[in-house]
Amino acid sequence: MTIKSSLSRLKGVGPVLEKALADAGIFTIGDLLDYYPRKWDTYLAIKRIQGIQPGLVSFEAKIERVSMRISHRNRRLTITEAILSDSTGTIKAIWFNQPYLAQTLIANNSYRFRGNYEYKNGYVSLQAPTFEKLSTAPVAQEIIPIYPETKHLSSSIIRKLISQCIDVSDQLEDILPSAIIKVHKLLPKSTAICLLHTAKTQDQLISAKRSIAFEEIFELVLTGLVIKKNIKTSKAVLIRYQAEVAKRFVALLGFGLTNSQKKAAHTILQDISKDVPMNRLLEGDVGSGKTLVALLACVMTEQASYQSAIMVPTEILARQHFMSSQKLLQAMGVKTVLLIANMKKAEKETALKLISSGEVDCIIGTHALIGSNVHYHNLGLVVVDEQHRFGVNQRSSLKGKAKTMPHVLTMTATPIPRSLALVVYGDLDVSIINELPPGRKPIITKLVKDMDRIHVYKHIDTLIDQGQQAYVVCPLISDSDKLGAKSVEGEFRILQKTVFKHRRIGLIHGKLKPDEKSEIMENFKNGKIDMLVATSIVEVGVDVPNATIILIEGADRFGLAALHQLRGRVGRGSQQSHCYLFTASDNFDSLTRLEALEKTNDGFKLAQIDLETRGPGEIYGTTQHGLLNLRLANIFDHELVSEVKQAAEAFINKHNLLEYSQLAEKVDGLRNITSLD
Ligand code: ADP
Ligand code: MG
Repeated sequence: MTIKSSLSRLKGVGPVLEKALADAGIFTIGDLLDYYPRKWDTYLAIKRIQGIQPGLVSFEAKIERVSMRISHRNRRLTITEAILSDSTGTIKAIWFNQPYLAQTLIANNSYRFRGNYEYKNGYVSLQAPTFEKLSTAPVAQEIIPIYPETKHLSSSIIRKLISQCIDVSDQLEDILPSAIIKVHKLLPKSTAICLLHTAKTQDQLISAKRSIAFEEIFELVLTGLVIKKNIKTSKAVLIRYQAEVAKRFVALLGFGLTNSQKKAAHTILQDISKDVPMNRLLEGDVGSGKTLVALLACVMTEQASYQSAIMVPTEILARQHFMSSQKLLQAMGVKTVLLIANMKKAEKETALKLISSGEVDCIIGTHALIGSNVHYHNLGLVVVDEQHRFGVNQRSSLKGKAKTMPHVLTMTATPIPRSLALVVYGDLDVSIINELPPGRKPIITKLVKDMDRIHVYKHIDTLIDQGQQAYVVCPLISDSDKLGAKSVEGEFRILQKTVFKHRRIGLIHGKLKPDEKSEIMENFKNGKIDMLVATSIVEVGVDVPNATIILIEGADRFGLAALHQLRGRVGRGSQQSHCYLFTASDNFDSLTRLEALEKTNDGFKLAQIDLETRGPGEIYGTTQHGLLNLRLANIFDHELVSEVKQAAEAFINKHNLLEYSQLAEKVDGLRNITSLD
């Protein structure tokens, strides 16, 4: 058997299981070994029944009797109950909708049970415990790998399969250079993988996880270093810093820049005044004023007679940026044009002409900016707003449209903690705006029970009376009985007919025609609409300072980062703003996440919470892009991260990556995904 062997070599793999494995991406023995456990359970200290307290428990007991019945209240629900006993007492276990258990569990046989002992529906019982027959149950305290499971693929099946082929892990080759393995006291890959599945002690497990985490981070960091090295060797255009221009720009604003804005702007203007291409990420919480910093760089670029392009993820945002910055840019002598997919043909043709002839200096638009019909005269600066919304290809094609390497500024309001940014985007320099413009009051956020809904509506109504505006956000566009969440269409209809029939309500979602969308946004901005019922289409960037209240339905359906973004639609002026969250979920984890929003307005803190609870992939929508291949590495393990960074830097300075073919291949693969290049 080799890592390439097919799974049919294993005992017990029939067509059904083979399909289930294939659906989980497992086709070969190698894939199976590469299927990491999701977590490791250690069998808890075995308790006697008498001493059991509510919570997760594990104990050995005999089945006294098992019964199965159909619920009185819900005819579709079957309830299986078992009375378990040991010499100290008895306890009741209960399972829902697993009628076959009445046959599986055999009276007078002993099992080891593991599950939650909790208060539910009026009494305390053991809720749906897992169990293994005592004769076959693993020895207490043993470490049990728990795998990502699917319907036909349980952890115990995976464990059985892996036990048949674990020896094949010997054939796995090291990807890390052997010197690094030695110096950093890592396990060889073959041992580490073997132990992930079979560790007998915590020490073994810890060193296996550390070895694999080291490799994961090493590959990412090395990729960043390689990209950075390449960028720094190409030449970019020089954009001379002119203090007088910056002063004039700030004077036009009518307010001063915050210290963070000044600092970020200073660094950026320094960067672009060198002939090394800038590749900088500007992070700043929602509403921290990143746009102005970017605009100042655009102005400076125009002064040096180069064009700049600002790419944003949605047409709404493109129009908004265009309208709000036009006056300022015009006053600075910067000619600006809007370029989006949905504009009148003649208008678009004019824009394209102006762009290619160099008659316009700053081009604001969506991914239309990278259309094959767009020819820039001399692009010197590329700004990508909300970079996480774009794929790498979109970002690099914009860059590719310049004749010489342009400077690149990427901006994000999905704050990535610096430690993560440095690992994931090792090729980037990072600036952070960590303060809000003065006078902003922290948004008051409340998780509201459905029965208190009426109070929230009253509050909204009072604020509208005072001339303020509101958002109502729902997760869906149309009603769908499958998902059971509120839709904007449904909510719009109801609110218009009932509580808010005396108000002007607007409806916006992604399926409307572009013209309709911009008309509605326009009306909302101009105060012709009191309340905007919207999907998360308004999540990024929309800036209507007079809107001071946002109500979010089905809040558990949004990620923390998205909720924070949505909340950022209010609190943009000097008025006290409110955010009300509704949820039908009683899931503990969801509620905890929502409570985090109540407690803090700090996007960085929330990002950290999200990272810790959900892992980096999900937050930045990168699981789909396969962006972060960190399966075991914990990005907050600063000690490991800095050890790896040093190792990677030393390595790249001393060695030729090409001599390490497997590593080079990995780096090449990652480069296509992580690079903002
Ligand atoms: P974001 O960082 O979320 O992109 P914006 O650039 O949209 O934030 O800025 C949010 C709002 O704050 C805008 O209306 C902008 O004009 C205003 N703003 C930006 N900087 C300042 C400042 N230093 N003082 C006061 N208002 C500011
Ligand atoms: Mg913005």
